[in-house]
Amino acid sequence: MLKPLSEKQQNPAIMPSIFSLELSDLENWLSEIKEPKFRGAQIYNWLYEKRVTSFEEMTNLPKGLRDKLEETFHVHPMKEVARQESSDGTIKFLFELQDGYSIETVLMRHEYGNSVCVTTQVGCRLGCTFCASTLGGLKRNLLAGEIVAQVLQVQRALDATEERVSSIVIMGIGEPFDNYDGLIKFLKVVNHDKGLNIGARHITVSTSGIVPYIYKFADEGMQINFAVSLHAPNTEIRSRLMPVNRMYPMEELMESIRYYTKKTGRRISFEYGLFGGVNDQVEHAEELAKLIKNVKCHVNLIPVNYVPERDYVRTPKNQIFKFLETLKKRGVNATLRREQGHDIDAACGQLRAKERQEETR
Ligand code: SAH
Repeated sequence: MLKPLSEKQQNPAIMPSIFSLELSDLENWLSEIKEPKFRGAQIYNWLYEKRVTSFEEMTNLPKGLRDKLEETFHVHPMKEVARQESSDGTIKFLFELQDGYSIETVLMRHEYGNSVCVTTQVGCRLGCTFCASTLGGLKRNLLAGEIVAQVLQVQRALDATEERVSSIVIMGIGEPFDNYDGLIKFLKVVNHDKGLNIGARHITVSTSGIVPYIYKFADEGMQINFAVSLHAPNTEIRSRLMPVNRMYPMEELMESIRYYTKKTGRRISFEYGLFGGVNDQVEHAEELAKLIKNVKCHVNLIPVNYVPERDYVRTPKNQIFKFLETLKKRGVNATLRREQGHDIDAACGQLRAKERQEETR
């Protein structure tokens, strides 16, 4: 099992976020302070429909309740420190948190709508050898409300053009299953019809493969899309790329995935990064096809994205197509991921958490 997080990583010394609360949590809190339950729906309406940024603006609440909320919860939007726009319309936001750390969130524009890629941790402790997000280690988990706030901030940016966030991918900085409770709360809030009301089928969570949580997630009974970063056709190569595989070897991972597909009846996605000369040969594609033969799945191929501190090289185009064709010929449902936000370092594995103090030094 992964070592438990330190107290500070789990419970940062910051004010609780109002956005961490499900409607039922809010109603419980209201009943504790002897306020009527219906105030919960009113507050939710201000937060998620009207998207106000202070309790002061919640004018149909009594002053006493507004003061109590102000004393207890953080409601202010994260400070937007920078915004970079790609030639393909992708926007990368750098947000500053209450305690000075900053995180990245990405808005991607597709024909079918606007998708937000959210971050779940400040940094990451998994140490995948190709990824930028893990370079500085893990500082702390995000509060559920800090994950919700990313979607809200992007929605506010879209409000100007009357557009809507239509889907969410939990593929930013961090390992979502290393912040499991925060993740589940986040999912419940954004999915709630009085919250952001984003349908479960429009939300995708991706994990590096923390096996015990795959079982737990399967048992949650949510209709969320589920992706696993596989990246290798066998356990030896996977251990070289992803240290997490030494803790949860491929065999155990595949077993948990079989449990997931059986329990939920849902198909899963495998992310497979092509790392030049490491896992991108035809024989690897053949081995991969064999490995996932009986799994209800889809494979997403991702050509490696450039990370200056890492020395992986891109697979040549013709080799990528050979790999894809080999999978298809063997009956695997596979596609090449469309790449976005390259020119602003917003693609898979390029996001970083930043300590503001370091940045200004
Ligand atoms: N920790 C989760 C969520 C991150 S999702 C997970 O591992 O699934 C980001 C995806 O981008 C993961 O599949 C990750 O393995 C992949 N990735 C990381 N660095 C990359 C790089 N340099 N090039 C391509 N994909 C990369």
